[in-house]
Amino acid sequence: MNHLPVSLDLRRRPVVVIGGGEVALRKVRRLLDAGAVVTVVSPTLDAGLARLGLHYTHVERRYAPGDLEGAVFAVVAVGDAEVAAAIAAEAEARRVFVNVADDLERSSAILPAVVARGDVTVAVSTSGGSPLLARRIKANIEALLEPRLGVLASWLRALRPRVRARFGRDAVRARRYWSRLLDGPAAQRVLDGRVELAHAIALGELDATEDARRPGRVSLVGAGPGDPDLLTLKAARRLADADVVYHDALVPQDVLARVRADATLVDVGKRAGGHGATQQAIHAELIAAARRGLEVVRLKGGDPFVFGRGGEEIEALREAGVAYEVVPGVTAALGCAAYAGIPLTHRDVARAVRFVTAHCREGLVRAVASRLSAREETLVVYMALGLARELADALIAAGNPADTPVALVAEGTREAQRVVQSTLARLPTLAERHAVRGPALVIVGKVAALAERNAWFGSFVADTPAERAPRERERVPVFAVSAADVHCHAY
Ligand code: SAH
Repeated sequence: MNHLPVSLDLRRRPVVVIGGGEVALRKVRRLLDAGAVVTVVSPTLDAGLARLGLHYTHVERRYAPGDLEGAVFAVVAVGDAEVAAAIAAEAEARRVFVNVADDLERSSAILPAVVARGDVTVAVSTSGGSPLLARRIKANIEALLEPRLGVLASWLRALRPRVRARFGRDAVRARRYWSRLLDGPAAQRVLDGRVELAHAIALGELDATEDARRPGRVSLVGAGPGDPDLLTLKAARRLADADVVYHDALVPQDVLARVRADATLVDVGKRAGGHGATQQAIHAELIAAARRGLEVVRLKGGDPFVFGRGGEEIEALREAGVAYEVVPGVTAALGCAAYAGIPLTHRDVARAVRFVTAHCREGLVRAVASRLSAREETLVVYMALGLARELADALIAAGNPADTPVALVAEGTREAQRVVQSTLARLPTLAERHAVRGPALVIVGKVAALAERNAWFGSFVADTPAERAPRERERVPVFAVSAADVHCHAY
């Protein structure tokens, strides 16, 4: 089932309802609300339908072939399945869409549950799968939508001719104007019931933008680790307003689905080893797009400022005189730790946490591993898979016990999330042995062992050899890395 939601203008159009019971009553009410010219065919009428009698034509008999003649839409609410089948067949023959109550198979149209606020209509359909679920969703949406949203919608509609007169065919400027109204004080005034004030603001803004064509802006937006619900509200709004989105390979489809439908999506994905656009080429494209006056989003996995080269990008934008902003995202370390049930700091176990990358030009692994401090820390290693052996060797060589707990988290916060818990000694071949794919990071330190009892999402495997008896760990792994160590060029 993959129904296409369509809003029909039924005003003054003939619609036939076969049946006169309670279900028919509900449908007749909705059809009359939509302005349809309704004919009800039924030998008897529900009391409610009888009361509505003035507003439709009643044909007081059972259905007879030919009743759908001239109708643009038909609704069947009769108890008898055979009769319903005959009506559905007539509808099909006449190419009239028909809704048969409680019979998805015979329906060529379904009526979604509706939340209405004046001009604003939200239709909820489960493709006939569960009307009850549809009503639950409807209730949630009811609670979410401002009561005066309908007023806002008609106010915006009334402004349209003025905005069209001002901006003509310049859709980009018009859209920017609309989003300023919606995000700024004007829309809020309408929702607060102060329409006059809102109107003054809206007209003022219209004049203000008349001046020069304003240059666009680049929003550096963190997409989070994968679960689209982890986008910030601001990130979601930027995606919904963007003209063009330059995204990394790491950003999953679920997140890209939040981008405005007619925005341009450009994949500038780079992977370790280096396919995809070069950093210089990305800078040039961002600058050019902003200079064309577009709302540009540079969308990066996780947080733009954590191993994301966001710093270089805003430097380039600043030098070019292009306006920018940075919208933080949930970095992979935070997302993976949370979804794996691993607290990154924990009383008495880990008092600090460091984010480092193993994927670096200058043999960073050794540098990371050799600088141990006296404190108890958790180490989160990004891009660790390719260098797992070097990482483990260096950490052990630097004095960390071979049985220091590690957790490998792959595709964190996504449906396919996998957590493999093990020890430093077994880290080198961990990914191969468990056929781990996709983006993954490694959490090293005592807290990594907590996944075993706290993991709550995706799949969890404990990779601990049976032969080794558990014993008290003499040392807690501790790491300290200077900022210079995490300054990398190759990710
Ligand atoms: N800016 C990003 C990091 C980019 S570097 C952030 O803040 O998260 C890419 C590395 O991030 C990957 O190699 C992997 O180590 C890690 N990563 C990103 N998303 C991940 C995910 N969903 N699960 C596990 N690791 C992830």
